[in-house]
Amino acid sequence: MVEKLQKMLDYQKVDIELRRALDEIERNELNRKKEQARQAFSDAKNSVLETEKTAESIIAFYNNAQKYYDENIKKFEELERKLAATDENDDAARREILSQMETLRDKMSELERKLSEKKSKSDEVIHGYLEAQEKGKKMRDIYNSVKQKLEAFKEEKMPKINELNGKLGEMEKGIDKTVFEAYKSITAERKYPAVVAARSFDGGKSYTCSGCGLATSQKVKDELLEKGVCRCDNCRRIIYTE
Ligand SMILES: [Zn+2]
Repeated sequence: MVEKLQKMLDYQKVDIELRRALDEIERNELNRKKEQARQAFSDAKNSVLETEKTAESIIAFYNNAQKYYDENIKKFEELERKLAATDENDDAARREILSQMETLRDKMSELERKLSEKKSKSDEVIHGYLEAQEKGKKMRDIYNSVKQKLEAFKEEKMPKINELNGKLGEMEKGIDKTVFEAYKSITAERKYPAVVAARSFDGGKSYTCSGCGLATSQKVKDELLEKGVCRCDNCRRIIYTE
């Protein structure tokens, strides 16, 4: 194996250990739970806002209904007074007033019907509002508790991560710059390990990259045989002959 690769391989061993420690944090089940709680909290918050809007429109309806009711009561009382002042023998005039009173009464019972309809609607809205608020509080508590657990888990892992990072910083100094840069660009794509052996078969007629498992091209094979190291033309990993 090419001399300059040994230090890279030593580095890779420690780097993979670091990657595993970081994965334990990033792929922790708690991340999913935290995201779920955040989503559920945000849904509940939207429900609260929606029911608040509906409640506002119901209140506006009640206010209008109240005004309409007061006006009609006034009109009705006026008609009552007018009726009392009308000559008892003036049948035509009395009939006209009574028919107006009848119309008003119909309008009032129509309003009553609408109000009772609104009553069940507003009960529903209040129920929905309280439920969403309660759910929102619960989800916020779950979110906070999961977040805390996740942070405690990270805290627990940090000494090891810091130690590995320190080690890597030291090891980096001895590595060939070009190889190291290639290594960094490969691992940036989360391809671990980035440096792998090329296996020969058919008595050395072909080589396969043990990273992606595919056979190299003739060009890569020639370079590999000449220099002992090159990039896989399929996955771009650094491959070397053992
Ligand atoms: Zn490959």
